[in-house]
Amino acid sequence: MSPPPSTSTVATSTQLQAFVNYAREHKAVTIYDAVYSWFIKTSVMQTTKKAMIKCSTVSPFAEVWECSLTQNKSLHTTVEFEGGQVITNFRHKEVLDRPNYLTVQIGDCQHIMLDPEYLQYINHSCNPNVFFDTENRILIALRKIEIGEELTFFYPSTEWSMNRGFNCICQNENCLGYIQGAADVPLNILTKYKLSQLISAKLGMLTDIN
Ligand SMILES: [Zn+2]
Repeated sequence: MSPPPSTSTVATSTQLQAFVNYAREHKAVTIYDAVYSWFIKTSVMQTTKKAMIKCSTVSPFAEVWECSLTQNKSLHTTVEFEGGQVITNFRHKEVLDRPNYLTVQIGDCQHIMLDPEYLQYINHSCNPNVFFDTENRILIALRKIEIGEELTFFYPSTEWSMNRGFNCICQNENCLGYIQGAADVPLNILTKYKLSQLISAKLGMLTDIN
């Protein structure tokens, strides 16, 4: 049996796969699987970052970027924001009775299509920098945001149960993994986030029942 590849230099994915195979044969699955999946995720993120292209300026404070690999779009600032600052007001173009991947929830059966439309490119992160205040219809910075930073919000802060879930790859150490809405996030984690009044009320109702 040959020893695992050296880790003194940056390993390629082939070397890491060999490393994982070696570890599996030696029944040391968990830690090496963790290292390997971290490497794959990091590689994907780095490749994706390099592939980001600026696609259009959509407002005095933001522009949409597009990934040439995935065609995913994201919203990035062109100015700095301080924590607590109102970034913009928003309205609704349409109110739907069911959620879709572009809507923000404002009531039990009320899901709005955003106006201005470019706000739909604010993606999810488990460590968000903005919050959709659906009561006052304002987008708020949760902390200082640097120029060029992607604007992200925590989907379960407004969404109780999304129409389709996804595996988050936000790379934050507190990443929750599969995201499907507040209904699927443990209460002790959810309460660490700023939540819409609707989500807070639903949690209150659940707590009362239990
Ligand atoms: Zn995440």
